[in-house]
Amino acid sequence: MSKPKTTGKSGLRSELVRHNNLSAILKLVHIKGPLTRSEIVDQTGLSRNTVGMLVGELTTNELVSEYVVESNGSRGRPSPTVHPAHQSSAVIGVEILVDSIAVAVVGIGGEAIKLRHTTRDRNRNHPELVATDLAKFIESIINEIPSKTHIYGIGIAVPGLVEPENNVILAGPNLGWENVPFGQLLHEKLSASTAISIRNEADLGALAEQRRGAATGINNILFVSADIGIGGGIISDGTLLSGTRGLAGEVGHLPVEQKGRTCRCGAIGCWETVIGSEALIERIGSDQPFTYQAVADSLTNAAQGDDKTLKAYEVHGHWLGVGLAGIISVLNPQMIILGGFLGPAYPYVINALYAELNQRVMPAIIENCEVVPSELRDKAQLQGAAEFAWDHAFATLPQAIDARISASELQATDR
Ligand SMILES: [Zn+2]
Repeated sequence: MSKPKTTGKSGLRSELVRHNNLSAILKLVHIKGPLTRSEIVDQTGLSRNTVGMLVGELTTNELVSEYVVESNGSRGRPSPTVHPAHQSSAVIGVEILVDSIAVAVVGIGGEAIKLRHTTRDRNRNHPELVATDLAKFIESIINEIPSKTHIYGIGIAVPGLVEPENNVILAGPNLGWENVPFGQLLHEKLSASTAISIRNEADLGALAEQRRGAATGINNILFVSADIGIGGGIISDGTLLSGTRGLAGEVGHLPVEQKGRTCRCGAIGCWETVIGSEALIERIGSDQPFTYQAVADSLTNAAQGDDKTLKAYEVHGHWLGVGLAGIISVLNPQMIILGGFLGPAYPYVINALYAELNQRVMPAIIENCEVVPSELRDKAQLQGAAEFAWDHAFATLPQAIDARISASELQATDR
């Protein structure tokens, strides 16, 4: 007679522990790359036996593979290393912008296997049409990878307020969206069901910079991405700060001027009204209407030493410092990463910015805080979207293995 299955509380608990350990090992190999079993034992604190068993399970499921890398000149028998199986297991990262969509197939381990960008017709901004176009775009890119590749989910970065819990975009002012259940819409446009995780783009920029970019391994950071609007993503003690509805990090609406301009949100004197790209172009004194080209030109002019442009960036740096001083005092971050046009503008704003910070933030806080430009530049949000999809898979192992689909199953429906 076979032994009955454990159904008591201790059995459930030990299952949960096993799932957490499986997830911890996979996430470690995903983030750090190839590791020996001994290194995994050291870094997880798990026993050698447990690591051996769980690595076996991940290998069977083609999430990792274990092999010896021959090296010249080293003595003794080399030990096998556990590698992320990036050719077998992947997620899809998506970035939706007002006039473009970017899609990447990102393998376990974080490498982009395929990456494609397309401009979009602004007349097709209705959520239904965007979902239809996106599904077709995903299909076209997925047809270029081996049909057996396991797909673990789709992560999507959008410029707007997102409720991650139910994948609803509450407000996307630049897209003209309000209360859009975009996750559900995209599900309807795809032939197979896969996990969809949507999040604000600056949150995902923060995640990517912390995992693969300027803030690798740093656990307290703020990512500020500037365009016409300002996005903010906060990682506190290693965790993406969400707030009650997942809407934390709206730093663009920090009040900085009592009698300032009216912001797009309706309030007066938001940070966005003084450090957004429209404010910069106005400050330079152009009588032309705002264009993205004007922002690019201003960076070229600053690089060539144009006085008027450099002066405008200096004032920009001052306002940047005013807002950051408040945020730094609240969060005590170790690093601030400037993204969007503020990344390339870094050399022209940094002196005025630090002058402001040194004056406004207590030494004990500012001495341990560094402001740096984004390292991943315009790829930060897309990379973050893929990392977010992977995080969803890690959090739901081993169900995520059962729920994965093969690349060939992921096609656009004609609905
Ligand atoms: Zn505002």
